[in-house]
Amino acid sequence: MTCDCEATFSEKFLERAKELYPDSKDHSAELKNYAFVFNREGGMDLRGFIPVELTHTVINKKTGATRLKKEKTSLLFSYCPICGVKQNLAEESK
Ligand SMILES: [Zn+2]
Repeated sequence: MTCDCEATFSEKFLERAKELYPDSKDHSAELKNYAFVFNREGGMDLRGFIPVELTHTVINKKTGATRLKKEKTSLLFSYCPICGVKQNLAEESK
C-alpha cells in the first residue's frame, strides 16, 4: 500500500471511540475490508476490497434437480478508496 489511510483512519476512529465512550476501557477501532494480498514481487500489500457474493442455481444434469449455491470472492481496490493513491508501487512501475 502506498498510502497510510488505513492506519491514519483507524487511529482517528480510535480517538473518536475514546471521546464517545469515555467511561469504557480497551477501546479499539479497525477498518474492515482490508486484507494482505501477494504482490508481483512475492511480498505482501495491504489492500482494500469489496466482498462479492455470486449466487447461482446448480442444475443436476441427470435428475434436473436444482439447488441454490453461493460463492464468495472479492473486488480488490487498485486505488485507495479514501485518497485515490495507487495501491501498489510494484504494479505502478510496470
Ligand atoms: Zn489512501
